[in-house]
Amino acid sequence: MPDLELAHPCSGCGAAVRAALPVQGDAITCGACGRSAALTGADALVSERVVNLCAVCGGWAFYRQRDLNRKLGLGIIIAAAILAVPTHYVSLAVAVVLDVALWFLLPEVTVCYACGTLYRGFRRHPEHRGFDLALFEHHRRKAPAAQAAAPPPRG
Ligand SMILES: [Zn+2]
Ligand SMILES: [Zn+2]
Repeated sequence: MPDLELAHPCSGCGAAVRAALPVQGDAITCGACGRSAALTGADALVSERVVNLCAVCGGWAFYRQRDLNRKLGLGIIIAAAILAVPTHYVSLAVAVVLDVALWFLLPEVTVCYACGTLYRGFRRHPEHRGFDLALFEHHRRKAPAAQAAAPPPRG
């Protein structure tokens, strides 16, 4: 069973603040700038092992993506390109196979649309889909302050 973990992009400096769940004191502190972010409902996350509400921002919209290390993916491509001529381009075919294999082997992570916090080790939520740009734009714009000042519904 993988451990539960979240990675929150620090609102102060943008560094990824990684923390294993459950968190001591219900707050995570950025190692780079010292800013801390309070967590809400982290206990429920741990007991349910499903991300329903974002512990950092309270957001409820999430997408799922493969936990792909982009540097690793890029490294495979570069190595394949360097080896292409000496291996008579067999390396390129190997790289494609490796990339596809990685895609299937890598675990999925859940990411909050609103604040970008990444959740590792949780079960798949049946309503969570892949990344959707329209949803991303929608939830990013809807800051808590803007929600309170929303105009009355038309019609
Ligand atoms: Zn920071
Ligand atoms: Zn969030």
